[in-house]
Amino acid sequence: MTTAEAATATDYEIVIGLEVHSQLLTASKMFCRCPADYANAAPNTHCCPICMGFPGVLPVINEQAVDYMMMTALALHCEIPDFSKFDRKNYFYPDLPKGYQISQYDRPLSQNGYLIINLHGAEKRIGITRVHLEEDTGRLAHINEDGDSYSLVDLNRAGVPLMEIVSEPDMRSPEEARLYMEKLRSILVYLGVSSGKMEEAALRCDANISVRPRGQQEFGVKTEIKNMNSFRAVERALTYEAQRQIEELKAGRTIVQSTRGWIEDRGVTVLQRVKENSDDYRYFPEPDLPPLVISRDWVEGLRARLPELPDAARERLERDYGLSSYDAEQLTAERALASYFEAALKAGKPDKGGDQAARAKAVANWMLGDLRRLLNAASLDIAESKVSPAGLAELLDMMDAGTISGKQAKDVLEKAFASGQSPKAVVEAEGISQLSDTGELESIVESVIAENPKAVEDFHSGKASAVQFLMGQVMKRTKGRARPDVVIPLLQSKLGQA
Ligand SMILES: [Zn+2]
Repeated sequence: MTTAEAATATDYEIVIGLEVHSQLLTASKMFCRCPADYANAAPNTHCCPICMGFPGVLPVINEQAVDYMMMTALALHCEIPDFSKFDRKNYFYPDLPKGYQISQYDRPLSQNGYLIINLHGAEKRIGITRVHLEEDTGRLAHINEDGDSYSLVDLNRAGVPLMEIVSEPDMRSPEEARLYMEKLRSILVYLGVSSGKMEEAALRCDANISVRPRGQQEFGVKTEIKNMNSFRAVERALTYEAQRQIEELKAGRTIVQSTRGWIEDRGVTVLQRVKENSDDYRYFPEPDLPPLVISRDWVEGLRARLPELPDAARERLERDYGLSSYDAEQLTAERALASYFEAALKAGKPDKGGDQAARAKAVANWMLGDLRRLLNAASLDIAESKVSPAGLAELLDMMDAGTISGKQAKDVLEKAFASGQSPKAVVEAEGISQLSDTGELESIVESVIAENPKAVEDFHSGKASAVQFLMGQVMKRTKGRARPDVVIPLLQSKLGQA
């Protein structure tokens, strides 16, 4: 962007609202008893007359899906009304065998909530319009072989429970949209209602975005962006689309309300279709399902079952362990990370001075630094780490006891991670240890001093760096094993005599 363009871009405000779909981790589908696990089954083996849309069949509501959706709504501070119903959303597509999707239109199962994002250290509240239930579609496979092209349909996914979470148009930058998605995913995974796997389309995001001259109250014309399957894609697609809209307006053209697809490898959005209105779906109440009457006991029972959520976990980690807000936020992004952190703290020996906060900080640093790097490189989740929480505690205990140096600990962690051995076993097998024997170090210090008269001269003329130089020589000779806290006093006393 040139300076002139940047100046113009700031004359516009970006307005974003997200529609997120999440599959729910139920055993069976939304309205029949077919397994909801569709990915690992041969095509069209997890389906029945109900989810294939045969005439005359009767759907039955999956109670677990209703529970999961309401738990999500409660976690997002939504109101749950006493009455809700399902509707038919009519449209035609080869992956939709019934010719309609059962969804919720004017009486959703929840509304008026919010989610808090942490934007550069400040909290920002993003409104949640509604959370409602619907069902997923089947999948098409487009085949192209020997000059022949055709499409096949797989209905294993048809009827899998789907929850839609609609936000208010409260986000003002692509970054806020990414932070919202990250936080929402974190909450869903903490609740245990979603796998959160965007790469497998178990969690999907569509975005509505418009721009308006700064200061204008009225919203601009929006476009809807589809096909973003990672947090990065959400941020990139919205950045591209905002810039595209601003350039259209600057050129005196108008924005057409439309649906656009994000093309990841080209980094652009392209027009897919001019937007339908809800009238085009001819919604009407689903005649085969009873309305849902929600008792307060049901709602309160679910509220009592809610686990600790990311915001509460972050506050607790800050309060109980003295962690910085940044570290606590990182460690509570996933429940598995927070569990690992607490298990590692419990497994460790009480720190030298009983300094719990120092140990907590050390565990956080190792988890968010070296361990995370190793996990990322191996594409593993923290739960799959070859170094257990007890293993990390063992490593820190050995450092605290002076058995190994910080530098050696990095090496030991890498070896333990690769082999699955405990850090202690690695240290023993490789003979890694710090040299702290005063007698042995004393003779090394003496010979280093004898061989470096120039440095000794520098020391006596007041150059503090001379000690560092000599220290380096001792390290070189001991291959980095010498304990600095033993060597430094030795050096100083010997130099004083030299
Ligand atoms: Zn079925």
